[in-house]
Amino acid sequence: MDYQKNDILTVTIEDMGHDGEGIGKADGYTLFVKDAVIGDVIEAKIMKAKKNYGYARLMRILKPSSHRVEPACPLARPCGGCQLQMMDYQEQLRFKQKKIEDNLRRIGGFEQLPMEPIVGMEEPFRYRNKAQFPVGTDKDGNLVTGFYAGRTHDIINNRNCLLGVEENQQVLDAVLGWMEEFKIPAYDETNGTGLVRHILIRYGFRTKELMVCLVINGEQVPKKDALTERLGKIPGMTSITASINRERTNVIMGNRILTLWGTPYITDYIGEVKYQISPLSFYQVNPVQTEKLYGLALEYAGLEGQETVWDLYCGIGTISLFLAQKAKKVYGVEIVPAAIEDARRNAALNGIENAEFFVGKAEEVLPKMYARGEARADVVVVDPPRKGCDAALLETVVKMRPERIVYVSCDSATLARDLRWICGEGYEVRKVRGVDMFPMTRHVETVVLLSKGEIDSKKERVEFSLEGTDMSGFQ
Ligand code: SAH
Repeated sequence: MDYQKNDILTVTIEDMGHDGEGIGKADGYTLFVKDAVIGDVIEAKIMKAKKNYGYARLMRILKPSSHRVEPACPLARPCGGCQLQMMDYQEQLRFKQKKIEDNLRRIGGFEQLPMEPIVGMEEPFRYRNKAQFPVGTDKDGNLVTGFYAGRTHDIINNRNCLLGVEENQQVLDAVLGWMEEFKIPAYDETNGTGLVRHILIRYGFRTKELMVCLVINGEQVPKKDALTERLGKIPGMTSITASINRERTNVIMGNRILTLWGTPYITDYIGEVKYQISPLSFYQVNPVQTEKLYGLALEYAGLEGQETVWDLYCGIGTISLFLAQKAKKVYGVEIVPAAIEDARRNAALNGIENAEFFVGKAEEVLPKMYARGEARADVVVVDPPRKGCDAALLETVVKMRPERIVYVSCDSATLARDLRWICGEGYEVRKVRGVDMFPMTRHVETVVLLSKGEIDSKKERVEFSLEGTDMSGFQ
């Protein structure tokens, strides 16, 4: 049967795609339907029809799935941020666990998977310590701030995103109130005029310190004292800055930072490690789950105090500093120079002296040092961006023959590809565990422990037992 655009069909949703969309069939024709949940019986309108499958829009729910819930946020559907709010949280976790398993089976070719249960959150809302709110003007001339609607730059007015902290609303009310009173215009990206582009807010979950950074299309903030007076009253306010960004670009932050009030950074902790976070620093956005994720990496690393560890793609050295507390020496490698400056500063701030950091591409720094005989490791940790590890890096890692490799991944498809390759080189997957760093969204982190396989360990025992043996007769 041929289906066409605008056809309306009744579909039962039987599966979920990896982006959280529902998948169902009508007479053998597969439909992908955003906002639909496994078990829903729905009426869907075809938006795009291909020969064997199509994309459809959810029009009406005829019979809701037992896992369907009313989204806590009334803007969940138009907003681009949350894909899974209409699924109960247990079902979200099941979806994420299955996504990891599917990728490891399908792409990685693994049959037996030592999966441990995914680590979820007790309270899956209000977990983000950072938010960047775009500021604009609606068609009636009113100031708006909130989030972009999915795949657009239309701002959905929302000062109370349920993934962010409650303090965000007070900050946004204060900044927009100040803009309204002093007629300070929002930036207009269609013509590059206006002043206020974004409002960045960061909150230290442990310290309760609050940071506001106004991203501006100008060299200074007019009526600065009126702004800092309003913001300074909010409990916990520690740092008020402006970031100058005069470029016509989608990049949010500009590199020049002006301190308007307080310090140019806030402080927070992950575990026992203290961090100074400035507007431009990278810092994990879900501190509660980050602590669990790094705890897991530490557990998998199996450190007893004498180990040399390499942490590749180390960012600001969060994992490195976490592991340095239990290892003899940790080396971190990261491509962004400012991140390495942060890593060194944070090491010093915590009196950690057994961590050393290198700027550069991991796939260049490590092979070079290995060739010079300067890189050996008992444990290697990798935490690459979505595209996974570079092949040249993995080649060096397996040549180094560390006892254990801990792979932290934000994309289980590239993880599966890399694991398959590493396992072809004599390593075995010992443990796999998902961590839900971003409840309500389709994203999931995975931590994997690999160690040397049977053959490799036997070979090493033989080599070891030959040490000190008189080999002269064999030569
Ligand atoms: N482990 C860190 C951050 C990991 S995110 C933490 O937990 O905080 C991945 C990091 O890899 C980013 O900081 C990114 O800048 C860095 N990166 C990307 N490509 C790289 C490369 N080729 N070599 C080294 N680092 C790279």
